[in-house]
Amino acid sequence: MQAPSVGGVRLPKGGGETIRLARGASLTDFADKIDANPAALVQVLFHLGEMVTATQSVSDDILELLGSEMNYNVQVVSPEEEDRELLETFDITYGEDAGDEEDLQVRPPVVTVMGHVDHGKTRLLDTIRKTKVLEGEAGGITQHIGAYQIETELEGTPRLITFIDTPGHEAFTAMRARGANSTDIAVIVVAADDGVMPQTVEAINHAQAAKAPIVVAVNKIDVEGANPDKIRQQLTEYNLVAEEYGGDTMFVEISAKQGVNIEGLLEAILLTADAALDLQANPDMEAQGVAIEAHLDRGRGPVATVLVQRGTLRVGDSVVAGDAYGRVRRMVDEHNEDVTEATPSRPVQVIGFTSVPGAGDTFLVVGEDRVARQIAERRQARIRNAMNAARRKRVSLEDLDSALKETSTLNLIIKGDNSGTVEALEASLVQLEVGDEVELNIVHRGVGGVTESDIDLATASDAIVLGFNVRAQGKATERANREGVDVRYYTVIYQAIEEIEQALKGMLKPEYEEVELGKAEVREVFKSSKIGTIAGCLVTSGQIRRNAKARLLRDNVVIAENLPVNSLKRFKDDAVEVREGFECGLTLGRYSDIKVDDVIETYEQREKPRA
Ligand code: GDP
Repeated sequence: MQAPSVGGVRLPKGGGETIRLARGASLTDFADKIDANPAALVQVLFHLGEMVTATQSVSDDILELLGSEMNYNVQVVSPEEEDRELLETFDITYGEDAGDEEDLQVRPPVVTVMGHVDHGKTRLLDTIRKTKVLEGEAGGITQHIGAYQIETELEGTPRLITFIDTPGHEAFTAMRARGANSTDIAVIVVAADDGVMPQTVEAINHAQAAKAPIVVAVNKIDVEGANPDKIRQQLTEYNLVAEEYGGDTMFVEISAKQGVNIEGLLEAILLTADAALDLQANPDMEAQGVAIEAHLDRGRGPVATVLVQRGTLRVGDSVVAGDAYGRVRRMVDEHNEDVTEATPSRPVQVIGFTSVPGAGDTFLVVGEDRVARQIAERRQARIRNAMNAARRKRVSLEDLDSALKETSTLNLIIKGDNSGTVEALEASLVQLEVGDEVELNIVHRGVGGVTESDIDLATASDAIVLGFNVRAQGKATERANREGVDVRYYTVIYQAIEEIEQALKGMLKPEYEEVELGKAEVREVFKSSKIGTIAGCLVTSGQIRRNAKARLLRDNVVIAENLPVNSLKRFKDDAVEVREGFECGLTLGRYSDIKVDDVIETYEQREKPRA
């Protein structure tokens, strides 16, 4: 059978074999797999209308398109899968307890506190920590490391609970987005004087999506006008039915500020864990878990708080977290005390990484420093590739030209300093009139800084983020850069509107109109072996310009169109343009059917300005 060809390029042809390519692979990677010349693939894509260099990362779509063109079944491998395969090459399995049923031991629940802003999440986490530290033997000085563990009692038995100490569901979603499910139980805080609010609902959705059982902390019961029953009522709508109403969700009335019924909340967490979950892990294996928080410390270098999920982490272990690696030189707990080993559900701050891992990165202990380094390096390379691919794909205002080929919808996320401005901005934007071919779609709007979950959403929906009188929070900028999300900040409403309007207009496909430039009559025809057929003409109106387009008329009938005017000459000299009343010689590309008395009409396509 003949090899298929596109635009005259002969394609390497597969027999429907499956080819696995990493997300963000380049044409060179593809060519390697099928033993072809990368240049041939570049050419093929060119004929399919895509200009791509051999080493540039390309999108999933392009890889698949190219595959189907050449009869290969392209499978784009997700980063998670790829990572699993990477670890397999070192004989490592992440995410599973080694050994049998007998090797498993009970581990404490890990809790995330979520809820609407100002409902008391931070206060609650502080109160729990303080109450417990006063009781404990530890010195009383606590430091914020991103998580802490407390000891309490349930029916006379001492029990531990781990709290993730970064309130809000952003950290929670960020971790989940990276496949690291760190939370066993979600405590949803609802202020009794305020009731269920948008972020309460969002938090519930996140928890339910993660299949984490929920305990509802009805907070601020000390405030006058607090109405805990209304909250029980409201939450039934979200499938959270209180035990008193015959459901299985525990509602606990507390005051984070006055320290009321904190014990009751801790008890509810443990009871819920015991009833709904079977929390066990094997402590006798090389530790695995997730990095919760990390930063560069001036004195100590990179420090990362990791939550051990299985195995035991010890000083001296070789570790990898995301694309960072190192050896545990020192571990400290939330009381700033040295720890030599950390068992499942224990958060510890690790010193000894050579670079800073990302929050949400998985971490694991490996047998040798060399292996840790190799895994980290392979991941770095992959992140670089993925970043390049993302850059290409994501929309930015400057880049709309290419984006409009795929879509004529401009997706926006609007964040502002208060709901009034956000609404005003949104209202003005949706009123922008730029024609039917393009539309504006507000994917999300909200009050507050640009967060990492805004960036996640922008990534997922190919949106541009507008920040009005607000700035990025936490690692949002870092993430936006990594994902190639365009984030724009404004302080003047008109400026925002103007830029978006320009962007939308830019998305319209340009409209062209023909502008006649001039006419000439053919007086003589010469044939030249070197440059083809030359028409000796007299310009009868307007002007004849080199590189303009021409059509040829004979007896008022168009016999050829879209011909290029080249080698325009006045006598022996090259001319750029020749005006009415003058004679000139010209060729119309390689077109040769030119006769005396033909008329050459020249014109130009000009982009029509938009109103
Ligand atoms: P977050 O945004 O959910 O972290 O809320 P914060 O913990 O920052 O609390 C918001 C405000 O509510 C602060 O001024 C707290 O002092 C106050 N607050 C928190 N819990 C209680 C409570 O139980 N009773 C009263 N009266 N105020 C509280």
